[in-house]
Amino acid sequence: MRLVFIGPPGIGKGTYASAVSKVYGIPHISTGDIFREEIKQGTELGRKVKEYVERGELVPDEIVIEVVRKRLLQEDCKRGFILDGFPRTLKQAEALDKITKIDLVLNFKAPDEVIIERLSGRLICSKCGAIYHRKWMPPKKPGICDKCGGPLITREDDRPEVIRHRLELFRRQFAPIIEYYRRKGLLVDVDASEQAEIVVPRVLKVLEEHGFKPPAKS
Ligand code: AMP
Repeated sequence: MRLVFIGPPGIGKGTYASAVSKVYGIPHISTGDIFREEIKQGTELGRKVKEYVERGELVPDEIVIEVVRKRLLQEDCKRGFILDGFPRTLKQAEALDKITKIDLVLNFKAPDEVIIERLSGRLICSKCGAIYHRKWMPPKKPGICDKCGGPLITREDDRPEVIRHRLELFRRQFAPIIEYYRRKGLLVDVDASEQAEIVVPRVLKVLEEHGFKPPAKS
């Protein structure tokens, strides 16, 4: 089951990918995560992509395509995979078609206001990094971390104006990719405007409806 997941920041893609990955026993491959890890490890690839990633610019197609090609050749991708954050350009989408055949593309959607409410309510402990949400997961004492007593802050990235800008960038970047897969008949829109407890079963249902049965448990 070879899947591509598309969705704006804050839509909960990571949560849906990890649920599908567990149920179907296939890896979740996020090019953003791969790059961040390589940068952290200080590898040659990490050094090559560092500046692009830190500036939020696209890493050149040749580099990303080669990384994905190599990753998809690994043993754990034999039964399938979930690609997240790739493809991001038409050149990448065309290259991916040459590397392998994609079965389905899930396009996660929610109104901007829902995403803004989710992300702008996020609070992070400036000491230990624990995450809370003003509405959905408030700390016991306002502004104070339950775990370490540190002060809770809103990340710069999670301010409503900044979120709006990130959503706009996402739309501009992914519109041609969404169109590309819609034309091929591979795109399925998934409503992700509710909580994960509702969206995760919805995603699993979509996959079953498209003929993908989870492997029998041994
Ligand atoms: P993400 O976590 O998906 O937002 O990716 C973080 C950063 O990694 C992006 O801002 C880009 O600099 C880089 N990146 C990740 N995936 C790609 C891709 N498919 N093409 C180009 N750059 C990418």
